[in-house]
Amino acid sequence: MALIVQKYGGSSLATPEKIKMLAERIITRYDSGDRLVIVVSAMGQTTNELEAKAHAVSSNPTPREMDMLVSIGERESISLMAIAINSIRPELAVSFTGSQIGLITDNNHGNARILEIKGDRLADALKAEKIPIIAGFQGVSTNKEITTLGRGGSDTTAVAVTSALKADMCEIYSDVAGVYSTDPKLCSDAVLISELDYDTMLTISSLGAKVLKDAAVEYAHRLGVKITTGLTWTGETGTVISDTASLDRNKFAALVYNDNLSYKYCDFKDEILDRLSEVRFFQRSAERSLLILNGSAEGYNQCCSLSIVGSGIRSCSDTLKKMLDITGSAADIISFDISDLKFEIFVKDSLGKGIVSGIHRLFF
Ligand code: ADP
Ligand code: ASP
Ligand code: MG
Repeated sequence: MALIVQKYGGSSLATPEKIKMLAERIITRYDSGDRLVIVVSAMGQTTNELEAKAHAVSSNPTPREMDMLVSIGERESISLMAIAINSIRPELAVSFTGSQIGLITDNNHGNARILEIKGDRLADALKAEKIPIIAGFQGVSTNKEITTLGRGGSDTTAVAVTSALKADMCEIYSDVAGVYSTDPKLCSDAVLISELDYDTMLTISSLGAKVLKDAAVEYAHRLGVKITTGLTWTGETGTVISDTASLDRNKFAALVYNDNLSYKYCDFKDEILDRLSEVRFFQRSAERSLLILNGSAEGYNQCCSLSIVGSGIRSCSDTLKKMLDITGSAADIISFDISDLKFEIFVKDSLGKGIVSGIHRLFF
């Protein structure tokens, strides 16, 4: 009998009907003999909607109140999921908030780091043969305030719970089976990757592929948690992320398109020190320094990036030149960044699906 932590993302829980179907799948898996712990995100676009509501009442909501607000999305999901499971099998499921499972974080509202999970209540629920349903993305700080783990943070909760319970597996289910050679919603030729090592996955996530939260990958590496991704509705497994570093790993792993960046030319001292945690890229020059941030920011212009991730990237200059050429013909290039693990091009304009697909064909 294995102990499995399963995480379901927002798209898998978008409607009450989906929650009911998922409840049936969870009970079927439980009946097959595995012990389950379920981590859920907020339903559909709930977190975006909650953020928008805050901005409708204030242009500058405080981080503490934002965490209080956005954490309710996951609270809705845990209770509905437990209600749905219990309506089929009375008293089988029990819901828990982050603070109820003792998920303790630092005091960094909006992007908190997990310090520990006490987990006694989880252990008790498992002993009573129940299915704990845990609210992802949230915890309680050492100052006893509600905190959240950054967008996409339910993945991080799942990894941390797997480690705290010494569970046998961490399964992350979504609307895609796993990690593809590029976002399958942008390119129909994207290929499913069966295995990835932590470093490559972390690079892919840090560059903005939403499929797995970067902090979750970093924790998984540090805590030795193997992640298996899967498609919610079929249970089909996709990508295994583990320590299987091998010499023959692919030269090119994935192409990542990120349209959620912003940039500004600015004075070094004024801007960068205040915004260190958001900085994606900085380039200093005599006349004007370029600062690129993750996400959007007031007074900044929106920009995008397209990156190829792999190993020994620097040695592929012919293909990189072609990538730069195609990108440059479609958009205004702001700058680029190169290392052995990635080549990232920052552009002012959005790149259409056709351009991303064309560049994908260069590599895969
Ligand atoms: P969830 O709500 O289940 O956490 P997310 O929206 O956070 O799901 O992440 C899944 C999405 O990530 C997919 O729907 C897909 O559009 C996007 N994505 C971006 N890059 C990739 C990639 N390389 N492979 C798979 N999915 C990707
Ligand atoms: N609901 C949160 C978000 O939308 C956390 C998550 O989905 O993992 O970012
Ligand atoms: Mg996600």
